[in-house]
Amino acid sequence: MSSPPVLVATRSVHKLEEIRDVLADLPIHFLSPADLGLAELPEEDDLEPFDTFALNAMSKAKYFHGRSNIPVLADDSGLCVDALGGGPGVRTKRFAPEDHVRRWGRTEANNRWLLEKLQGVEPSKRRAQYRCAIALSDDLQHAGVEDLVEGRIAEAPRGSNGFGYDPLFLVGEGDETFAELPETAKMSLSHRARALQRARPWLEEHVIGGR
Ligand code: IMP
Repeated sequence: MSSPPVLVATRSVHKLEEIRDVLADLPIHFLSPADLGLAELPEEDDLEPFDTFALNAMSKAKYFHGRSNIPVLADDSGLCVDALGGGPGVRTKRFAPEDHVRRWGRTEANNRWLLEKLQGVEPSKRRAQYRCAIALSDDLQHAGVEDLVEGRIAEAPRGSNGFGYDPLFLVGEGDETFAELPETAKMSLSHRARALQRARPWLEEHVIGGR
């Protein structure tokens, strides 16, 4: 029997790749919206209006379940920096002002903005967490899980692996950013990897077990 499909509710190729890698041992075919021929619609920009990662993840899961009618896994994630009162949090993706985004592109603008906001903050006060909420949805069941990884924000970007804020995120108490570590390390240590491990039982029960 062929592997059952699960739609991964993201337009980010990086997130999709990480999710596929972390759950590679499961007999599930993880598909992108494009794999199902689901055109990217302007309304997708409004799927994250809530002030928790969990609610935003569930909003994306339900929306894409409505469009696909197959089980959906959605990720909402971001950076919470102690010195910024827990921000940018759910606004991590749209942290930098739009004129900076036009000038640098979103990722570089966000990273520059984060460094600017933390200018003059000493290393011991640059603690942060990456947080990830995963929502799962099919016809009958919804579930949500969350996890995080602790770290600090570096004073300059380092490394070329990963995506987004990875060049600025020093993992744990160490002196390497996620972008400097081998990709396999992120696959076991990251907020997303940890949350996905919590999502496994639901996938095993409702997707693999439900075949
Ligand atoms: P959203 O989950 O699509 O709302 O976007 C999350 C934001 O956090 C984006 O700006 C991502 O680049 C960033 N982000 C989430 N997870 C990671 C990660 O694993 N590495 C780097 N940046 C991340």
